Amino acid sequence: MTILDETHDPDLTSWVASANVEGNGFPVQNLPFAIFRTRGTHNEPFRPGVAIGDQILDLAALANIAPFNGLAAEALAACTTDTLNPLMALTHQHWSALRLALSRALRNGAALQKQLTPLLTAQADAQYQLPARIGDYTDFYISLHHATAVGKQFRPDNPLLPNYKWVPIGYHGRASSIGVSGQTFPRPVGQKRPAQDGGQPGFGPAERLDYELELGVLIGTGNAQGEALGIEQAEDHVFGLCILNDWSARDLQAWEYQPLGPFLAKNFATTVSPWVVTLDALAPFRTRFQRNPDDPQPLPYLSSLHNQDAGAFDIELSAWLTTQASRKAGLAPMPLSESNFRDAYWTVAQLVTHHTVNGCNLMPGDLLGTGTLSGPELAQAGSLLELSRGGNQPVQLPSGEQRRFLEDHDEVILRAQCRKPGYPVISLGECAGTVLPARAHTPHR
Ligand code: CA
Repeated sequence: MTILDETHDPDLTSWVASANVEGNGFPVQNLPFAIFRTRGTHNEPFRPGVAIGDQILDLAALANIAPFNGLAAEALAACTTDTLNPLMALTHQHWSALRLALSRALRNGAALQKQLTPLLTAQADAQYQLPARIGDYTDFYISLHHATAVGKQFRPDNPLLPNYKWVPIGYHGRASSIGVSGQTFPRPVGQKRPAQDGGQPGFGPAERLDYELELGVLIGTGNAQGEALGIEQAEDHVFGLCILNDWSARDLQAWEYQPLGPFLAKNFATTVSPWVVTLDALAPFRTRFQRNPDDPQPLPYLSSLHNQDAGAFDIELSAWLTTQASRKAGLAPMPLSESNFRDAYWTVAQLVTHHTVNGCNLMPGDLLGTGTLSGPELAQAGSLLELSRGGNQPVQLPSGEQRRFLEDHDEVILRAQCRKPGYPVISLGECAGTVLPARAHTPHR
Protein backbone atom coordinates (compact mmCIF):
# COMPACT_ATOMS: atom_id res chain seq x y z
CA MET A 1 0.00 0.00 0.00
CA THR A 2 1.26 3.49 -0.82
CA ILE A 3 1.21 6.37 1.63
CA LEU A 4 1.88 10.02 0.95
CA ASP A 5 5.37 11.18 1.93
CA GLU A 6 7.73 14.09 1.30
CA THR A 7 8.01 13.17 -2.43
CA HIS A 8 4.35 14.20 -2.83
CA ASP A 9 4.80 17.70 -1.37
CA PRO A 10 3.08 19.85 -4.03
CA ASP A 11 5.45 22.75 -3.29
CA LEU A 12 8.60 20.84 -4.29
CA THR A 13 10.40 22.30 -7.31
CA SER A 14 13.36 20.99 -9.31
CA TRP A 15 16.65 22.54 -10.43
CA VAL A 16 15.63 21.30 -13.90
CA ALA A 17 13.63 24.41 -14.79
CA SER A 18 11.27 22.74 -17.32
CA ALA A 19 9.98 20.45 -14.53
CA ASN A 20 8.48 23.50 -12.82
CA VAL A 21 6.53 24.76 -15.84
CA GLU A 22 2.83 24.49 -15.03
CA GLY A 23 1.21 21.45 -16.65
CA ASN A 24 4.45 20.00 -18.09
CA GLY A 25 3.42 16.57 -16.75
CA PHE A 26 6.85 15.46 -15.52
CA PRO A 27 7.38 17.49 -12.34
CA VAL A 28 9.65 16.21 -9.54
CA GLN A 29 6.52 14.64 -8.00
CA ASN A 30 6.18 12.21 -10.98
CA LEU A 31 9.57 10.55 -11.76
CA PRO A 32 8.41 7.83 -14.23
CA PHE A 33 10.81 5.27 -15.73
CA ALA A 34 11.58 4.39 -19.37
CA ILE A 35 14.27 2.69 -21.47
CA PHE A 36 15.93 5.19 -23.82
CA ARG A 37 18.97 6.20 -25.81
CA THR A 38 19.88 9.23 -27.90
CA ARG A 39 18.10 9.07 -31.24
CA GLY A 40 20.27 8.11 -34.21
CA THR A 41 23.13 6.69 -32.15
CA HIS A 42 23.10 3.04 -33.06
CA ASN A 43 26.08 2.12 -30.90
CA GLU A 44 24.73 3.82 -27.76
CA PRO A 45 23.06 1.21 -25.51
CA PHE A 46 19.44 1.48 -24.42
CA ARG A 47 19.32 2.07 -20.66
CA PRO A 48 16.92 3.12 -17.88
CA GLY A 49 16.09 6.78 -17.41
CA VAL A 50 13.76 8.84 -15.26
CA ALA A 51 11.78 11.79 -16.69
CA ILE A 52 12.22 15.23 -15.19
CA GLY A 53 10.56 18.11 -17.07
CA ASP A 54 11.52 17.83 -20.73
CA GLN A 55 14.71 15.93 -19.84
CA ILE A 56 15.70 12.33 -18.98
CA LEU A 57 18.15 11.52 -16.21
CA ASP A 58 20.40 8.62 -17.27
CA LEU A 59 20.13 6.05 -14.46
CA ALA A 60 22.86 3.78 -15.83
CA ALA A 61 25.32 6.69 -15.70
CA LEU A 62 24.03 7.61 -12.23
CA ALA A 63 24.60 4.00 -11.11
CA ASN A 64 28.27 4.45 -12.08
CA ILE A 65 28.55 7.40 -9.69
CA ALA A 66 26.63 5.38 -7.05
CA PRO A 67 25.62 8.37 -4.92
CA PHE A 68 22.87 6.65 -2.89
CA ASN A 69 22.87 4.33 0.15
CA GLY A 70 20.84 1.37 1.35
CA LEU A 71 17.78 0.19 -0.59
CA ALA A 72 18.02 3.17 -2.99
CA ALA A 73 21.58 2.14 -3.89
CA GLU A 74 20.46 -1.47 -4.45
CA ALA A 75 17.61 -0.25 -6.66
CA LEU A 76 19.88 2.05 -8.67
CA ALA A 77 22.39 -0.77 -9.18
CA ALA A 78 19.56 -2.67 -10.95
CA CYS A 79 19.29 0.15 -13.53
CA THR A 80 22.24 -0.71 -15.76
CA THR A 81 20.76 -3.01 -18.44
CA ASP A 82 18.41 -2.37 -21.37
CA THR A 83 15.24 -3.33 -19.47
CA LEU A 84 13.55 -2.40 -16.21
CA ASN A 85 13.05 -6.09 -15.28
CA PRO A 86 15.93 -6.17 -12.72
CA LEU A 87 14.47 -3.10 -10.96
CA MET A 88 10.95 -4.51 -11.20
CA ALA A 89 12.11 -7.81 -9.64
CA LEU A 90 13.08 -6.01 -6.39
CA THR A 91 10.47 -4.86 -3.86
CA HIS A 92 8.10 -1.93 -3.40
CA GLN A 93 10.41 -0.74 -0.58
CA HIS A 94 13.27 -0.55 -3.11
CA TRP A 95 11.21 1.45 -5.63
CA SER A 96 10.04 3.86 -2.89
CA ALA A 97 13.60 4.32 -1.60
CA LEU A 98 14.86 5.07 -5.13
CA ARG A 99 12.00 7.51 -5.67
CA LEU A 100 12.87 9.35 -2.45
CA ALA A 101 16.59 9.49 -3.32
CA LEU A 102 15.84 10.75 -6.85
CA SER A 103 13.39 13.32 -5.49
CA ARG A 104 16.04 14.63 -3.09
CA ALA A 105 18.70 14.67 -5.85
CA LEU A 106 16.51 16.49 -8.38
CA ARG A 107 14.84 19.08 -6.17
CA ASN A 108 16.00 22.66 -5.87
CA GLY A 109 19.07 23.05 -3.66
CA ALA A 110 20.23 19.42 -4.12
CA ALA A 111 23.94 18.91 -3.44
CA LEU A 112 24.07 16.46 -6.39
CA GLN A 113 22.97 19.05 -9.00
CA LYS A 114 26.48 19.56 -10.40
CA GLN A 115 27.11 15.81 -10.80
CA LEU A 116 23.67 15.12 -12.31
CA THR A 117 23.52 17.97 -14.83
CA PRO A 118 25.80 16.21 -17.39
CA LEU A 119 23.59 13.06 -17.13
CA LEU A 120 20.53 14.75 -18.70
CA THR A 121 19.27 14.07 -22.24
CA ALA A 122 16.48 16.12 -23.84
CA GLN A 123 13.36 13.98 -24.38
CA ALA A 124 13.16 15.57 -27.84
CA ASP A 125 16.46 13.83 -28.71
CA ALA A 126 15.51 10.43 -27.23
CA GLN A 127 14.45 7.16 -28.77
CA TYR A 128 12.65 4.57 -26.63
CA GLN A 129 12.22 0.83 -26.54
CA LEU A 130 9.83 -1.31 -24.50
CA PRO A 131 10.26 -0.57 -20.78
CA ALA A 132 10.48 -4.27 -19.95
CA ARG A 133 10.95 -7.71 -21.45
CA ILE A 134 7.30 -8.68 -21.28
CA GLY A 135 7.06 -12.41 -20.74
CA ASP A 136 3.29 -12.68 -20.56
CA TYR A 137 0.48 -10.34 -21.52
CA THR A 138 -3.07 -10.63 -20.16
CA ASP A 139 -5.91 -8.43 -21.33
CA PHE A 140 -8.87 -7.78 -19.03
CA TYR A 141 -12.29 -6.32 -19.84
CA ILE A 142 -13.00 -4.08 -16.85
CA SER A 143 -15.20 -1.33 -18.25
CA LEU A 144 -18.85 -2.15 -17.64
CA HIS A 145 -19.72 0.66 -20.07
CA HIS A 146 -17.58 -0.84 -22.86
CA ALA A 147 -18.79 -4.38 -22.16
CA THR A 148 -22.42 -3.22 -22.24
CA ALA A 149 -22.05 -1.12 -25.41
CA VAL A 150 -20.25 -3.91 -27.29
CA GLY A 151 -22.51 -6.62 -25.86
CA LYS A 152 -25.58 -4.71 -27.13
CA GLN A 153 -24.26 -4.95 -30.69
CA PHE A 154 -24.03 -8.73 -30.45
CA ARG A 155 -26.89 -9.46 -28.00
CA PRO A 156 -29.34 -6.51 -27.85
CA ASP A 157 -31.58 -8.16 -25.24
CA ASN A 158 -28.80 -9.51 -23.04
CA PRO A 159 -25.68 -7.36 -23.41
CA LEU A 160 -23.92 -8.44 -20.21
CA LEU A 161 -23.19 -12.10 -19.64
CA PRO A 162 -24.10 -13.38 -16.13
CA ASN A 163 -20.46 -13.69 -14.98
CA TYR A 164 -19.51 -10.06 -15.70
CA LYS A 165 -20.33 -8.54 -12.31
CA TRP A 166 -18.62 -11.36 -10.40
CA VAL A 167 -15.42 -12.23 -12.30
CA PRO A 168 -12.81 -9.84 -13.70
CA ILE A 169 -13.01 -11.18 -17.27
CA GLY A 170 -9.71 -11.60 -19.10
CA TYR A 171 -7.83 -13.66 -21.65
CA HIS A 172 -4.20 -14.39 -22.38
CA GLY A 173 -2.82 -12.16 -25.12
CA ARG A 174 0.46 -12.32 -26.99
CA ALA A 175 3.69 -10.58 -25.90
CA SER A 176 5.75 -10.91 -29.12
CA SER A 177 3.87 -8.20 -31.02
CA ILE A 178 3.86 -5.55 -28.26
CA GLY A 179 5.71 -2.42 -29.38
CA VAL A 180 6.56 0.94 -27.90
CA SER A 181 4.89 4.22 -28.93
CA GLY A 182 5.72 5.01 -32.56
CA GLN A 183 4.97 1.42 -33.58
CA THR A 184 3.75 0.84 -37.13
CA PHE A 185 2.19 -2.36 -38.45
CA PRO A 186 0.51 -3.58 -41.64
CA ARG A 187 -3.25 -3.92 -41.62
CA PRO A 188 -3.94 -7.54 -40.62
CA VAL A 189 -5.30 -10.03 -43.11
CA GLY A 190 -7.57 -12.93 -42.21
CA GLN A 191 -10.85 -14.82 -42.37
CA LYS A 192 -14.22 -13.08 -42.06
CA ARG A 193 -17.69 -14.33 -41.31
CA PRO A 194 -19.47 -15.85 -44.35
CA ALA A 195 -22.05 -13.61 -46.01
CA GLN A 196 -24.63 -16.37 -45.46
CA ASP A 197 -24.83 -18.96 -42.71
CA GLY A 198 -23.08 -22.12 -43.84
CA GLY A 199 -21.23 -20.32 -46.65
CA GLN A 200 -17.49 -20.02 -47.21
CA PRO A 201 -15.80 -17.34 -45.09
CA GLY A 202 -14.33 -14.24 -46.71
CA PHE A 203 -10.59 -13.63 -46.68
CA GLY A 204 -8.58 -10.42 -47.00
CA PRO A 205 -7.41 -7.28 -45.21
CA ALA A 206 -9.46 -6.34 -42.12
CA GLU A 207 -12.05 -3.69 -42.97
CA ARG A 208 -13.10 -2.96 -39.40
CA LEU A 209 -9.77 -2.12 -37.81
CA ASP A 210 -10.07 -0.34 -34.46
CA TYR A 211 -8.08 0.91 -31.48
CA GLU A 212 -8.81 0.32 -27.77
CA LEU A 213 -8.02 2.98 -25.16
CA GLU A 214 -6.53 1.10 -22.21
CA LEU A 215 -4.01 1.32 -19.41
CA GLY A 216 -1.29 -1.30 -18.88
CA VAL A 217 -0.31 -2.62 -15.44
CA LEU A 218 3.36 -3.66 -15.28
CA ILE A 219 4.05 -6.31 -12.66
CA GLY A 220 7.03 -5.80 -10.36
CA THR A 221 7.81 -8.45 -7.75
CA GLY A 222 6.52 -11.83 -8.88
CA ASN A 223 4.74 -14.53 -6.87
CA ALA A 224 5.69 -18.18 -6.67
CA GLN A 225 3.54 -20.63 -8.61
CA GLY A 226 0.84 -21.99 -6.31
CA GLU A 227 0.93 -18.93 -4.02
CA ALA A 228 -2.01 -16.57 -4.43
CA LEU A 229 -1.58 -12.86 -3.67
CA GLY A 230 -4.14 -11.56 -1.18
CA ILE A 231 -5.82 -8.29 -2.06
CA GLU A 232 -3.92 -6.50 0.75
CA GLN A 233 -0.55 -7.46 -0.81
CA ALA A 234 -1.50 -7.19 -4.48
CA GLU A 235 -0.50 -3.57 -5.06
CA ASP A 236 2.99 -4.18 -3.64
CA HIS A 237 3.54 -6.41 -6.70
CA VAL A 238 2.66 -3.65 -9.19
CA PHE A 239 5.59 -1.60 -10.50
CA GLY A 240 3.48 0.97 -12.32
CA LEU A 241 1.06 1.93 -15.07
CA CYS A 242 1.51 2.81 -18.75
CA ILE A 243 -0.89 3.63 -21.60
CA LEU A 244 -1.90 0.74 -23.88
CA ASN A 245 -3.58 0.49 -27.30
CA ASP A 246 -5.05 -2.96 -27.93
CA TRP A 247 -5.53 -2.72 -31.71
CA SER A 248 -8.47 -4.89 -32.78
CA ALA A 249 -9.74 -6.24 -36.11
CA ARG A 250 -13.48 -6.40 -35.45
CA ASP A 251 -14.41 -8.33 -38.61
CA LEU A 252 -11.80 -11.03 -37.92
CA GLN A 253 -12.94 -11.11 -34.28
CA ALA A 254 -16.62 -11.57 -35.14
CA TRP A 255 -15.89 -14.81 -37.05
CA GLU A 256 -13.20 -16.34 -34.81
CA TYR A 257 -14.16 -15.37 -31.23
CA GLN A 258 -16.49 -18.21 -30.33
CA PRO A 259 -15.98 -20.35 -28.31
CA LEU A 260 -12.47 -19.49 -27.03
CA GLY A 261 -12.33 -15.69 -27.42
CA PRO A 262 -10.22 -13.33 -29.54
CA PHE A 263 -7.11 -14.67 -31.28
CA LEU A 264 -5.77 -13.25 -34.58
CA ALA A 265 -8.07 -10.22 -34.25
CA LYS A 266 -5.89 -8.96 -31.40
CA ASN A 267 -2.41 -10.47 -31.52
CA PHE A 268 -0.97 -8.68 -34.57
CA ALA A 269 0.02 -5.55 -32.59
CA THR A 270 -0.33 -3.90 -29.17
CA THR A 271 1.28 -0.53 -28.44
CA VAL A 272 2.40 0.82 -25.04
CA SER A 273 3.73 4.21 -23.91
CA PRO A 274 7.45 4.38 -23.07
CA TRP A 275 6.95 5.87 -19.58
CA VAL A 276 5.90 3.76 -16.60
CA VAL A 277 4.40 5.84 -13.78
CA THR A 278 4.75 4.16 -10.38
CA LEU A 279 1.83 3.62 -8.00
CA ASP A 280 3.77 5.85 -5.57
CA ALA A 281 3.56 8.73 -8.06
CA LEU A 282 -0.18 8.08 -8.52
CA ALA A 283 -0.93 7.96 -4.77
CA PRO A 284 -2.37 11.53 -4.63
CA PHE A 285 -4.95 10.48 -7.25
CA ARG A 286 -6.35 7.48 -5.44
CA THR A 287 -10.09 7.49 -5.07
CA ARG A 288 -12.95 5.36 -3.76
CA PHE A 289 -13.84 2.15 -5.57
CA GLN A 290 -17.53 2.60 -6.17
CA ARG A 291 -20.15 0.08 -7.13
CA ASN A 292 -23.74 0.76 -7.95
CA PRO A 293 -25.52 -0.32 -4.71
CA ASP A 294 -27.85 -2.52 -6.77
CA ASP A 295 -24.87 -4.49 -8.12
CA PRO A 296 -23.43 -7.51 -6.31
CA GLN A 297 -20.53 -6.68 -3.99
CA PRO A 298 -17.23 -8.41 -4.84
CA LEU A 299 -16.57 -11.81 -3.25
CA PRO A 300 -14.47 -11.53 -0.05
CA TYR A 301 -11.16 -12.38 -1.78
CA LEU A 302 -11.68 -9.35 -4.07
CA SER A 303 -12.62 -6.98 -1.27
CA SER A 304 -10.71 -4.98 1.35
CA LEU A 305 -11.20 -1.73 3.23
CA HIS A 306 -8.19 -0.15 1.51
CA ASN A 307 -9.46 -1.24 -1.90
CA GLN A 308 -12.89 0.20 -1.12
CA ASP A 309 -11.53 3.51 0.23
CA ALA A 310 -8.64 4.13 -2.19
CA GLY A 311 -8.30 1.27 -4.70
CA ALA A 312 -9.35 3.26 -7.78
CA PHE A 313 -7.29 5.92 -9.58
CA ASP A 314 -8.48 9.21 -11.06
CA ILE A 315 -6.61 9.15 -14.39
CA GLU A 316 -7.93 11.15 -17.37
CA LEU A 317 -7.61 9.32 -20.69
CA SER A 318 -8.04 10.61 -24.22
CA ALA A 319 -7.80 9.31 -27.79
CA TRP A 320 -6.69 11.41 -30.77
CA LEU A 321 -6.37 10.79 -34.50
CA THR A 322 -4.21 12.10 -37.32
CA THR A 323 -4.80 11.03 -40.92
CA GLN A 324 -2.68 11.33 -44.03
CA ALA A 325 -4.87 14.28 -45.08
CA SER A 326 -4.87 16.00 -41.67
CA ARG A 327 -1.08 15.80 -41.43
CA LYS A 328 -0.71 17.14 -44.97
CA ALA A 329 -2.99 20.05 -44.02
CA GLY A 330 -0.84 20.70 -40.93
CA LEU A 331 -3.76 20.04 -38.54
CA ALA A 332 -3.15 19.14 -34.91
CA PRO A 333 -4.26 15.67 -33.72
CA MET A 334 -8.07 15.50 -33.73
CA PRO A 335 -9.87 14.48 -30.52
CA LEU A 336 -11.93 11.27 -30.64
CA SER A 337 -13.02 10.80 -27.03
CA GLU A 338 -12.05 11.11 -23.37
CA SER A 339 -12.76 8.94 -20.34
CA ASN A 340 -11.47 8.24 -16.82
CA PHE A 341 -9.93 5.15 -15.20
CA ARG A 342 -12.02 5.74 -12.05
CA ASP A 343 -15.11 4.56 -13.98
CA ALA A 344 -13.70 1.02 -14.31
CA TYR A 345 -15.64 -1.86 -12.74
CA TRP A 346 -12.58 -3.47 -11.09
CA THR A 347 -9.40 -2.06 -9.53
CA VAL A 348 -5.72 -2.82 -10.18
CA ALA A 349 -5.53 -4.70 -6.85
CA GLN A 350 -8.53 -6.85 -7.81
CA LEU A 351 -6.98 -7.74 -11.20
CA VAL A 352 -3.70 -8.88 -9.65
CA THR A 353 -5.50 -10.78 -6.87
CA HIS A 354 -7.86 -12.50 -9.26
CA HIS A 355 -5.06 -13.40 -11.68
CA THR A 356 -3.16 -15.28 -8.96
CA VAL A 357 -6.09 -16.77 -6.98
CA ASN A 358 -5.69 -20.10 -8.78
CA GLY A 359 -1.94 -20.18 -8.13
CA CYS A 360 -0.90 -18.61 -11.45
CA ASN A 361 2.53 -16.99 -11.04
CA LEU A 362 3.07 -13.44 -12.31
CA MET A 363 6.63 -12.44 -13.25
CA PRO A 364 8.50 -9.12 -13.19
CA GLY A 365 7.69 -7.30 -16.44
CA ASP A 366 4.40 -9.11 -17.10
CA LEU A 367 1.78 -6.81 -18.59
CA LEU A 368 -1.93 -6.68 -17.73
CA GLY A 369 -4.18 -4.63 -20.02
CA THR A 370 -7.23 -3.14 -18.32
CA GLY A 371 -9.51 -3.58 -21.32
CA THR A 372 -11.09 -0.64 -23.15
CA LEU A 373 -11.77 2.15 -20.65
CA SER A 374 -15.05 3.65 -21.81
CA GLY A 375 -17.18 5.94 -19.65
CA PRO A 376 -20.98 6.03 -19.38
CA GLU A 377 -21.48 8.61 -22.20
CA LEU A 378 -21.01 8.03 -25.94
CA ALA A 379 -18.34 10.80 -25.99
CA GLN A 380 -16.39 8.69 -23.47
CA ALA A 381 -16.22 5.60 -25.69
CA GLY A 382 -12.73 4.12 -25.94
CA SER A 383 -13.05 2.58 -29.42
CA LEU A 384 -14.45 3.39 -32.87
CA LEU A 385 -16.75 0.35 -32.60
CA GLU A 386 -18.60 2.28 -29.89
CA LEU A 387 -18.16 5.81 -31.30
CA SER A 388 -19.55 4.78 -34.71
CA ARG A 389 -22.18 2.48 -33.14
CA GLY A 390 -20.86 -0.62 -34.80
CA GLY A 391 -19.84 1.24 -37.97
CA ASN A 392 -23.38 2.56 -38.58
CA GLN A 393 -22.81 6.25 -37.75
CA PRO A 394 -19.50 7.59 -39.05
CA VAL A 395 -17.52 9.89 -36.80
CA GLN A 396 -17.15 13.38 -38.34
CA LEU A 397 -13.58 14.70 -38.10
CA PRO A 398 -12.46 18.36 -38.02
CA SER A 399 -10.46 17.65 -41.22
CA GLY A 400 -13.77 17.16 -43.05
CA GLU A 401 -13.19 13.38 -43.22
CA GLN A 402 -15.27 10.59 -41.65
CA ARG A 403 -14.31 7.38 -39.93
CA ARG A 404 -16.28 4.23 -39.17
CA PHE A 405 -13.05 2.33 -38.61
CA LEU A 406 -9.34 3.08 -39.16
CA GLU A 407 -7.97 3.67 -42.64
CA ASP A 408 -4.43 3.10 -43.90
CA HIS A 409 -1.89 5.65 -42.58
CA ASP A 410 -4.18 6.66 -39.70
CA GLU A 411 -2.23 7.38 -36.53
CA VAL A 412 -3.95 6.92 -33.14
CA ILE A 413 -2.50 8.82 -30.18
CA LEU A 414 -3.59 7.92 -26.64
CA ARG A 415 -2.82 10.23 -23.73
CA ALA A 416 -3.28 10.00 -19.96
CA GLN A 417 -2.79 12.43 -17.12
CA CYS A 418 -3.83 13.10 -13.52
CA ARG A 419 -5.02 16.51 -12.42
CA LYS A 420 -6.34 18.00 -9.21
CA PRO A 421 -6.35 21.51 -7.74
CA GLY A 422 -3.20 22.45 -5.85
CA TYR A 423 -1.09 19.58 -7.24
CA PRO A 424 1.14 19.49 -10.33
CA VAL A 425 -0.14 17.55 -13.37
CA ILE A 426 1.18 13.97 -13.45
CA SER A 427 1.42 12.73 -17.06
CA LEU A 428 1.69 9.15 -18.33
CA GLY A 429 2.89 10.57 -21.65
CA GLU A 430 1.69 9.37 -25.02
CA CYS A 431 1.10 6.09 -26.85
CA ALA A 432 1.06 6.51 -30.65
CA GLY A 433 0.82 3.97 -33.43
CA THR A 434 0.16 3.99 -37.19
CA VAL A 435 -1.69 1.58 -39.48
CA LEU A 436 0.18 0.75 -42.70
CA PRO A 437 -1.46 -0.79 -45.79
CA ALA A 438 -1.93 -4.58 -45.74
CA ARG A 439 0.96 -6.56 -47.22
CA ALA A 440 0.23 -8.13 -50.60
CA HIS A 441 -0.93 -11.65 -49.82
CA THR A 442 -0.88 -14.63 -52.18
CA PRO A 443 -2.58 -17.63 -50.59
CA HIS A 444 -0.88 -20.95 -51.36
CA ARG A 445 -3.04 -23.53 -53.02
CA1 CA B 1 -8.76 -5.05 -25.13
